Amino acid sequence: MTNVPLTAPAELSSARVGMRYLRARAPAPHLARSVGRRATAIVTAAALLAASWPVHAQENKGPPLLRDAETEQLLRDYTRPILRAAGLEKQNIQVVIINDPTFNAFVADGRRIFVNYGALRESETPNQIIGVLAHETGHLAGGHLSKLREQVARAQTQMIIAMLLGLGAAVAGGRSGAGNAGAAAIAAPQAAIMRTMLSYQRQQEENADKAGVKFLNATGQSAKGMYETFKRFSEQSLYASAGADPYNQSHPMPAERVRALEELARSSPYWDKKDDAALQLRHDMMRAKVSGFMERADTVYRRYPASNNSLPARYARAIAAYRHGDLRNALSQIDALISVQPNNPYFYELKGQALLEGGKPNEAIAPLRKGVQLSSNAPLIEMLLGQAYVASENKTYAEEAIKILRAALSREPEAALGYSQLAMAYGRKGDYAEADLASAQAAFLRGDQKTARDLASRAKTRFAIGTPGWVKADDIVNTKPIKN
Ligand SMILES: [Zn+2]
Repeated sequence: MTNVPLTAPAELSSARVGMRYLRARAPAPHLARSVGRRATAIVTAAALLAASWPVHAQENKGPPLLRDAETEQLLRDYTRPILRAAGLEKQNIQVVIINDPTFNAFVADGRRIFVNYGALRESETPNQIIGVLAHETGHLAGGHLSKLREQVARAQTQMIIAMLLGLGAAVAGGRSGAGNAGAAAIAAPQAAIMRTMLSYQRQQEENADKAGVKFLNATGQSAKGMYETFKRFSEQSLYASAGADPYNQSHPMPAERVRALEELARSSPYWDKKDDAALQLRHDMMRAKVSGFMERADTVYRRYPASNNSLPARYARAIAAYRHGDLRNALSQIDALISVQPNNPYFYELKGQALLEGGKPNEAIAPLRKGVQLSSNAPLIEMLLGQAYVASENKTYAEEAIKILRAALSREPEAALGYSQLAMAYGRKGDYAEADLASAQAAFLRGDQKTARDLASRAKTRFAIGTPGWVKADDIVNTKPIKN
């Protein structure tokens, strides 16, 4: 156990009962964090490329994340061929969904592509969001982040030198009565450094476009969706105002860049190729789910009015009914969905989640078992089933809960929620050593190192010295907190 929360990916929060669309925290981008507080201008330049959440939020907390088995599976299916074409299939690159309604996508380290749920909801076709993912993969394949980090480091040195020179000039100016010469001497080099950074960024954007189109061509897909999305942002940026989508700041889209992209995209033999109908349906279902879970009820019913009898519309309304309405009504809508697609694991997951959150954990167990089975053991659904076993307060389920939570955690080892459920399952069994250890692991993954150490210390007194549990607890006790 060497990683600490700042470098851990998506961490599940135990704040909510449900697994679906859990709020979780991502680490801040390493890039911006490494720059430090003083060089604000450079942080801004870096943030333009890497991310757009507020600088002061970058100390300990990243943006809140969303976890969802269905959406994550779709995004894996979208990215797998692209990553293979980019030669990155062995890097275990994840797409992470950020709980943010605006349109944005970016890379902030070498192993994750971040995408706002707003970008998923706004992309009308698989091809549009695949184009964005292909562009971001272009940044990863080009190693733009490590190059940028060098560039930031160099700029930072320049900045410090400029500040020192400016300070010297200010002191000299003060003595000679030359007024604001010192302040100007500070500002001018900063502006020059910013210009250098921005032109470097433009170059990287163009390279990522070219690489993205190359990956799309190699996988027999059209770059039309990528072009459509970027063109929309280019036009939007003409009227840009405060509060515009952050994608415009992370990806400036001057008209000439979009023109170059159009030319490149149109030259592909796949320009007019449409998304497969089955994939389009999965995409529409995902968008309906994002709307149902994340948007206000009136927004959901406006987008998906009762007159719309399509499966995605019925999915969105069923989710909104469970979130905002009464359980019985929601269950009848979900059962109707199940009768249309009896092998859709996510309908059973939704039914189980609705029952679990509706205070009926015993009834949630059967649909969740079905969801686990039909999804070929999706760990997020397994964790929900484990949660239902624990919530059922039926002691005979404790062993089953431990088994399924352990299985899920072996594939999602950084999910704090899985460990806190595991702790409760061990507690039901009366195994307090394992319960303390699992609670310590949950606290550790949440970034609460003090609680983690306290619980791990107590766990150590309950295990026999040198047993595997004792060793794990000892690891947590001895972990040094990482300084920013
Ligand atoms: Zn980009």
